[in-house]
Amino acid sequence: MPRHAAVIVAAGTGERFGGSLPKQYRPLAGSSVLRRSVEAFRATGRFDDIVVVIRDEHRPLYDAAAVGLGLPEPVTGGATRQDSVRAALEWLEARAPDLVLVHDAARPLVDRATIDRVLDALATAEAAIAAVPVVDTIKRAEAGIAAGTVDRSGLWQAQTPQGFRFPALLAAHRAAAGEALTDDAAVAERRGIAVRLVEGHVDNFKITTEADLTRAERLLGGAADIRTGTGFDVHRLIPGDAVILCGIRIPHGFKLEGHSDADVGLHALTDALLGAIGAGDIGQHFPPSDERWRGADSAAFLAHAAELVRARGTILNVDVTLLCERPKVGPHRAAMVARIAEILRIDAERVSVKATTTERLGFTGREEGIAAQASASVRIER
Ligand code: MG
Repeated sequence: MPRHAAVIVAAGTGERFGGSLPKQYRPLAGSSVLRRSVEAFRATGRFDDIVVVIRDEHRPLYDAAAVGLGLPEPVTGGATRQDSVRAALEWLEARAPDLVLVHDAARPLVDRATIDRVLDALATAEAAIAAVPVVDTIKRAEAGIAAGTVDRSGLWQAQTPQGFRFPALLAAHRAAAGEALTDDAAVAERRGIAVRLVEGHVDNFKITTEADLTRAERLLGGAADIRTGTGFDVHRLIPGDAVILCGIRIPHGFKLEGHSDADVGLHALTDALLGAIGAGDIGQHFPPSDERWRGADSAAFLAHAAELVRARGTILNVDVTLLCERPKVGPHRAAMVARIAEILRIDAERVSVKATTTERLGFTGREEGIAAQASASVRIER
């Protein structure tokens, strides 16, 4: 069996993070960036050795991040990434691996399939690296002005892992010491090694900025601050000619009594949205004592609650249940869904309206009033 080694490069200073914790040690969805990278390789069960290269001054951070992983002593990196990789390869020489994959610790979202593709390609290729085709149009700029469009056909973005025959990579690194090459593939190419590109993954991006870290958190679901609110409302039925339910006027022998248009469905939903962000209730925002709201279209209440949510995040979905014997809601359901989606400015697919009777029991069963309950889920982002 050929021996496989992985080198995880975590020796960066993290200067681009503005003096805060270096990016490889930043927490990421309940773990750390470095730990996730190491665990991605460990989980494959295909590596005999996994060695991490760090900066000496980060040792306490490393010890905290690597606790329980059972890794060998980390290797101390050099002044450049290239020096750091060479140090790890020199350390590995005694372990005599056949194949080695080099991976940036700052790519914690590397997936099993990408690691497998790089490793498997080495069965026939001298070297193989994960890469994704360039999809954006690339501009060459001079003093901030576009000076031309680069033909992107044949252009790829190199990722890690990058895989090599171990002896060949060690020799290439020794020969390239002191040169400034950007990645291990460049070191290998310098020695005339053919580097095959294998399919990487768009999520296998390098964490360089705070925005990258936020994106990684989101992909892992770790930063999702999902909140739910519920609402309930009742209005009395009195003689009239129509009820307004979920924004739709339905001819009926009664109407709902209230200060506004008494749309019990939209009131319950407004309370659900306000509840999800802990912003009080509809009565606080629109007091029934205020003449402004006499006969008001309840869409205004719901739109206001939606604005309050949008100031902090996104409405994920809402669900309203109307409790009444009559009128029949079914024929109006699609219109109600469409109207709520319009007021909330979300896809209709995220809106649900349902109805039930109460088997002629209670005040709704006796048609003295109509009740509504609602729930809303929101994702807080700000
Ligand atoms: Mg009400």
